[in-house]
Amino acid sequence: MKICIDPGHSGPVEPGACAGGFTEAAINLAIGLVLGELLRGKGHEVILTRSGDIEDDGLAFRADIANEAGADIFISVHCNAAERLEARGVETYHYPGSAEGLCLAQAIQAALCQGGYTLDRGVKEADFAVLRLTDMPAVLIECGFITSEADREVLISEAGQRLIAEAIVSSIGTESL
Ligand SMILES: [Zn+2]
Repeated sequence: MKICIDPGHSGPVEPGACAGGFTEAAINLAIGLVLGELLRGKGHEVILTRSGDIEDDGLAFRADIANEAGADIFISVHCNAAERLEARGVETYHYPGSAEGLCLAQAIQAALCQGGYTLDRGVKEADFAVLRLTDMPAVLIECGFITSEADREVLISEAGQRLIAEAIVSSIGTESL
């Protein structure tokens, strides 16, 4: 399978949510890189929308990369944030009305919840640009809350990042697309 991984946000130019001295951009990238490595190990072809910090803070180029490569699925990796510091959990988004996106989101969400590192906030739909502009089944995963101390501990640790990546990998190919 050809899989496009999109580590959300850009780096210093557009770091996404920040908490505890950590940026979402850096965490998303770390998870995305491990995910890519594991998927390649499983024989998948992997395309990354970025493999380091970039200047471009746009969104459309991410979908363009996936579309031009003819990716079979698109996985955008993000972390959540909230003013309420107790808020935690994982949620997976798909484009409204996309049956294939829903299946993929359900498979990934189930695997992440089985990982047991945080709470299950469910599968949701949203008109996010990267979900709207991609031609293939696409999901956006909010792996956990950077603002939650408990979630952040998992998100910033190598073991936690691997746990999350392994859960996502385990779900690829199990969805009934
Ligand atoms: Zn984000």
